[in-house]
Amino acid sequence: MAFDAQPDNGGSSVGNTVLIVGTGFAGLCMAIKLREAGITDFVVLERASEPGGTWRDNNYPGCACDVQSHLYSFSFELNPDWSRMFARQPEIKAYLAHCVEKYELAQHIRYGATVNEARFDDAASVWRVRTEDGRSFSARFLVSGMGGLSTPAYPDVKGLSNFKGKTFHSADWDHAYDLKGKRVAVIGTGASSIQFVPQIAKEVAQLDLYQRTPPWIMPKADRAISGREQRLFRKYPIAQKAVRAGIYALMESRALGFVVNPKLLTLAERFARSYIARKIADPVLRAKVTPDFAFGCKRVLISNDYYPALTRPNVDVLTDGIREVRAHSIVGNDGVEREVDAIIYGTGFKAQDPMPRGTIFGRQGLDLMDAWDNGLEAYLGTTIHGFPNLFMLVGPNTGLGHNSMVYMIESQVHYVMECLKTMRRRKLIEVEPKRDVQSAFNLKLQERHSKTIWTSGCKSWYLDKNGKNTTLWPGFTFQFRAATRTFGTADYTLTAAARSKTAAR
Ligand code: NAP
Repeated sequence: MAFDAQPDNGGSSVGNTVLIVGTGFAGLCMAIKLREAGITDFVVLERASEPGGTWRDNNYPGCACDVQSHLYSFSFELNPDWSRMFARQPEIKAYLAHCVEKYELAQHIRYGATVNEARFDDAASVWRVRTEDGRSFSARFLVSGMGGLSTPAYPDVKGLSNFKGKTFHSADWDHAYDLKGKRVAVIGTGASSIQFVPQIAKEVAQLDLYQRTPPWIMPKADRAISGREQRLFRKYPIAQKAVRAGIYALMESRALGFVVNPKLLTLAERFARSYIARKIADPVLRAKVTPDFAFGCKRVLISNDYYPALTRPNVDVLTDGIREVRAHSIVGNDGVEREVDAIIYGTGFKAQDPMPRGTIFGRQGLDLMDAWDNGLEAYLGTTIHGFPNLFMLVGPNTGLGHNSMVYMIESQVHYVMECLKTMRRRKLIEVEPKRDVQSAFNLKLQERHSKTIWTSGCKSWYLDKNGKNTTLWPGFTFQFRAATRTFGTADYTLTAAARSKTAAR
């Protein structure tokens, strides 16, 4: 199946049918489904030198998924060989590399291709993309699989540039730097930090953990998967499907508390408090790590080794904040100067500011970041008014606090495929969501958000500067799947190939 693929000669032609950006779960899923539908004239642009997205970039010690692997994997590519209930980063990265090989995607991927600019050419109905190394690509459709959490956020602390020791972000771990015996400061106590802190605490001389807000943490029901279980899953895939379905149902039930009735979370909060009490004997430390916001308002984390790590004699949890960084030390707001050899940022990602201005330009040169001046929004988290033929995987309001993102990605990719099939059937060259349809969708979305736990008063990366939740889906994941099952042409302005573009609109 092809639309109107022609060689990319840099002129007014359409180079490829589809350009995909990124080789994480999203980009690879899109590529697999395109090939499955017989569309082979597509290119995947990847800034790094190997596939894997967030599971390639985040390789800090202890990095693992907090969703069970039987569920956090493609429904069409179950892996009977997962070694643990919650696979660690190297295994997930290897799983994605396996998908590249099995689905013959290598021929489509262009490595070292950092997208500098993607611009919609109105006259030709084509996306034109330039990469940092000077290459040009063009295609009828552009699919972003860049993910919402790929640009690291750094803290704005006085004097940081004067620091003479080592610094790096959790998403850009420097494995060549030996932490053994060093005095290390870690800033941030989020999802990444609670995974690497227990690992590095064992080897550093001193760990100063700068905590701004303590997260709610639950125990992690992790265990190794036995050879017997793996053999069972290999022989009877139905058994693994049943386990997957059970995990899905369990995870999905959590949405009842997050989005339907936050009062249901009271019991979970009580359990999390008792977990702190069981793991931490010191009342001062216990008070420091006990959140003062509702359970679930920020992402609920799972760990068995974080609290025990904090009780080590070489770990100090510092809650007064940082006054200033000097050449070899950090001065806290408590007035104490602490010498450090390295500072590690566990400070998360720019979820509200996913790309610099000047990266994606839609109709009449509209910059996506200008279109999003009042907050990120899309129709069904996937298409955006003013940006024809652009599909955003893991786009605005498709994130989850309770279930597997791979499920959402598969729903979105199905929707994109439905759209492409419709366009081919009807010989269309442009598709763009109607402004009023997108606005009405987002109005309803925000109404639902106003009743969720995420807007109950805490500050989190889920919310933008105006307190609007632009990141999470405020419902059950099966509701998202139902909404993306079919491509509703009435929601879109469609442009036919044969007619003049203005006439068709
Ligand atoms: P995060 O959860 O956003 O945590 C960032 C931490 O840095 C927070 O504790 C934050 O404090 C703190 N912080 C930020 N700026 C600061 C500043 N200027 N001064 C002091 N502290 C500061 O980031 P993350 O840990 O990298 O995780 C981000 C997301 O990635 C997660 O929510 C999750 O969705 C995903 N993730 C998933 C997994 C997984 O297992 N699947 C693992 C890691 C990450 P405040 O809370 O006060 O803002």
